[in-house]
Amino acid sequence: MPDSKTYTGGCHCGLVRFECTTDLAMVTACNCSICTKRGLHFAFLAPASFQLRAGEDNLREYLFNKHAIRHQSCDDCGVEVFARGQKPDGTAVVAVNVSCIDGIELAKLKMAPVDGKSR
Ligand SMILES: [Zn+2]
Repeated sequence: MPDSKTYTGGCHCGLVRFECTTDLAMVTACNCSICTKRGLHFAFLAPASFQLRAGEDNLREYLFNKHAIRHQSCDDCGVEVFARGQKPDGTAVVAVNVSCIDGIELAKLKMAPVDGKSR
């Protein structure tokens, strides 16, 4: 199990910046339509472990299906940085697009297949 670390990251153009603390132990490889089309791999964090440092006003929200997950993308470069949602028990979660973490190498991450398509 990797240790928790504090990472910085952001969108492609740099207007949206964040800091988050995670062990990256569980990164999703989800087969739902948005994860597939956007190439999203999420790490789910408690909201307290995620701080938006810049770009709050530059976010564009995208909702689909049951509107359960509020996808947040940079209005300029279009990169989805994170999403806000809730666990089945109502606890708030932040899903960070791990591809937005500075210096991340996707091929080195352990990914967990998630069958979001069937939900
Ligand atoms: Zn951007």
